[in-house]
Amino acid sequence: MIEHVAIVGGGFSGTLQAINLLRHEGPRATLIERADEAGRGVAYGAAHPSHLLNVRAGNMSAFPDDPGHFVRWLEARGVAEAATAFVPRLTYGVYLGELLDRVRRDAADRLTLVRGAVCDVIDGSTSVDVRLTDGRSIAADAAVLAVGNLPPHEPQGLSGAHLSADRYSPDPWGAGVTDGLSDDDIVLVIGTGLTMVDVALMLDARGFRGKVVALSRRGLLPRRHEAGGPAIDRLRERPRLAAADLVRAVRRRSEAVGWRHAVDELRPFTQAIWSNATEAERARFLRHLRPWWDVHRHRLAPQVADRLAAMQADGRLEVIAGKTIAFAEQEDGVAVTWRPRGEDSARQTIVRRVVNCTGPQGDLARTDEPLLRTLVERGEIRPDAAHLGIDVDAGAATIGNDGTVTGRLFALGPITRGAFWEIVAVPDIRTQTWNLARRLSNAHWVEGEGL
Ligand SMILES: Cc1cc2nc3c(=O)[nH]c(=O)nc-3n(C[C@H](O)[C@H](O)[C@H](O)COP(=O)(O)OP(=O)(O)OC[C@H]3O[C@@H](n4cnc5c(N)ncnc54)[C@H](O)[C@@H]3O)c2cc1C
Repeated sequence: MIEHVAIVGGGFSGTLQAINLLRHEGPRATLIERADEAGRGVAYGAAHPSHLLNVRAGNMSAFPDDPGHFVRWLEARGVAEAATAFVPRLTYGVYLGELLDRVRRDAADRLTLVRGAVCDVIDGSTSVDVRLTDGRSIAADAAVLAVGNLPPHEPQGLSGAHLSADRYSPDPWGAGVTDGLSDDDIVLVIGTGLTMVDVALMLDARGFRGKVVALSRRGLLPRRHEAGGPAIDRLRERPRLAAADLVRAVRRRSEAVGWRHAVDELRPFTQAIWSNATEAERARFLRHLRPWWDVHRHRLAPQVADRLAAMQADGRLEVIAGKTIAFAEQEDGVAVTWRPRGEDSARQTIVRRVVNCTGPQGDLARTDEPLLRTLVERGEIRPDAAHLGIDVDAGAATIGNDGTVTGRLFALGPITRGAFWEIVAVPDIRTQTWNLARRLSNAHWVEGEGL
């Protein structure tokens, strides 16, 4: 019988897990977060006002059983045409914070918030012991790892360059990324995905009038959402596709219905397609098609796409396909040696600062995170086959190195991408946390939507 669940990480996934456990009148929960504040995480806490959600508000309810919840919350605050709006991520953080505050008020005896960093979770035969770096330990019947993405890898060629903190920003949301720049500076952003977009917008909003050069292997930018709401003629059944055939089929469908519809209508089936694909098919998909998939699937709000286009038109944003080779700090900046895609000869550009926007990682074999490293070393968790995160079963229970599932340790959110692939955005994580809450509350034995 599970009476107490310890949740490691109070970002979106962990917070929603706690909220859903309380909604199910399930076990009591302890939510442990190492940052100052639980409830928002990286995406909705550290954002700049210019950062908008990349999903329409109509799809951003925290609750799968109440899809209109966020829209009603916005309408109550005077937001017009809320369902199709792309609101600031900070607003979404306020929404999540309020949800957490409400459950804390309503069920104060069943939710404990702990500020601290977890360094180990010892899975005993009937319970778990969650250890914090300050020496505290919390006993629970189960633990949920909701630790978010791992930090990005170092850009190629950077290792050993020893760039100073003023010249290299490893964390795109960290302090100082936009500090001390002048209008004739060049900022090199490595990566051309959504993280680069965040940095370009933030530089622009803070008045930087120099040039942003964004570089990635293919130089692909995320595509834009259409201004109107999606009118998707969804597929009625799961396409019988192996992952490797997916994009070919989407391309064919694109010719008939347009690429946005072709990508969107697959949404309800992506997890099942991924689960049914072989390891080799998944590896092929990741190797050849992931960049293409990412830019079509994770799109930009129209206002954001317009802003970027304006920066490009003004010559303040240049997007380049190529790869970095070496970095050397010098008096007037960083000399970056790089090679344009498809060319043999390298070039050199002097930039004021380099920002790592290569995107979140999940490879447990390469992480320095003490908690995950310890759990991997002891064999309690293992990397999934594609090294995208923590290996879990269909119910989010972690799988040990010897293939064992104890049912006392679970993982949630993007760190479970290896098992589900489509588990990055709110609409998928909210369902995952809801299902796990039902399981931990024994509600999954009950027909319908909960108790
Ligand atoms: C910049 C950005 C923008 C996004 N925009 C959207 C969007 O518009 N729409 C959408 O649907 N999705 C969006 N997403 C995706 C999605 O919402 C996030 O991936 C999701 O918030 C993941 O939440 P998480 O709780 O799993 O991870 P995180 O938010 O990273 O939270 C993990 C938390 O765990 C804590 N933690 C980690 N290790 C420990 C430890 N050992 N001890 C204690 N605490 C620990 C961390 O401090 C952190 O607060 C965005 C993601 C990002 C990064």
